[in-house]
Amino acid sequence: MTVSTERLPQFIEAAAAVMRDHAEEVAALDQAIGDGDHVANLQRGLNALCPLAPTLVGLDWASALQKIGMSVMSTVGGASGSLYGTLFLAMAKVLKDRSVDGVAFAEAFAAGVDAMRQRGKAELGEKTMLDVLIPVARTLVDGVAQGKPVPDLQSEVVAVAESGCESTRDLLATKGRASFLGERARGYLDPGARSAQLMISAIVGVLTEPV
Ligand code: ADP
Ligand code: MG
Repeated sequence: MTVSTERLPQFIEAAAAVMRDHAEEVAALDQAIGDGDHVANLQRGLNALCPLAPTLVGLDWASALQKIGMSVMSTVGGASGSLYGTLFLAMAKVLKDRSVDGVAFAEAFAAGVDAMRQRGKAELGEKTMLDVLIPVARTLVDGVAQGKPVPDLQSEVVAVAESGCESTRDLLATKGRASFLGERARGYLDPGARSAQLMISAIVGVLTEPV
C-alpha cells in the first residue's frame, strides 16, 4: 500500500480529535503519576500542526516529516516534545530521496522509534510510550517483510498498541517523572503510552476508511 502526504491533514485531524475526546482521561493519568501537563503538551503540538497540515500536502514524505518534526520540537514541551520530534526527524532522514512504500515506511518508523529509545535512554518495559511504539514498530517491520495483507496488518497494529498500553499498568516506572513514585505508579496506565496508543489507533482508523 502506498499512502501519499495528501492524507496527512486527515491523520493530524484524527490525532487531534482523539486527544480532545480523551483529554480528561489522559490528563488524569499524568496528574496521578507525572506532573499533569501531558495532554496540554500534545495539544499545543497538534494545534500548531493543524494549520501547517495544508502546506504538507504534495510534499515528499521526507520533507513533510521534517516540517512536522521541527514544529513538534518547537511547540510540544516536556519529555514527549523532544521524543516525538526525534521520531519524525529520524523518519525524515531515513526516507530522504526514497520512494515510500510499506517497507520503507516500516523501516523509517522503526528507525524513528530507535532514535527515541536512544534519546530517552529507555527500553521496553520501563512504563513509557515506548511500550506501545516498540511493539508497533516490530509488528510493522515483520508484517511488511512477510507480505501480510494490509487489513490484517492494520488490525494487528491496533491490537498490539492496545496490549502495549495495557502492559504499562502493572509496570514500575524507571524513566521519566513517574519513576520518582516507585511502587505508587503501579496500577496506572502510563499517560504517554495511552496517548500513543490512542493516536496510532485513530490514524489507522483513517486508513481503513474509504478515501
Ligand atoms: P514530562 O514528563 O516532561 O512532563 P510529558 O508529560 O509530556 O512530559 O510526557 C510524559 C510521558 O513521556 C510519559 O508518560 C512517558 O510515556 C514519556 N517519557 C518520559 N520520559 C521518557 C523517556 N526517558 N523515554 C521515553 N519516554 C519517556
Ligand atoms: Mg508531564
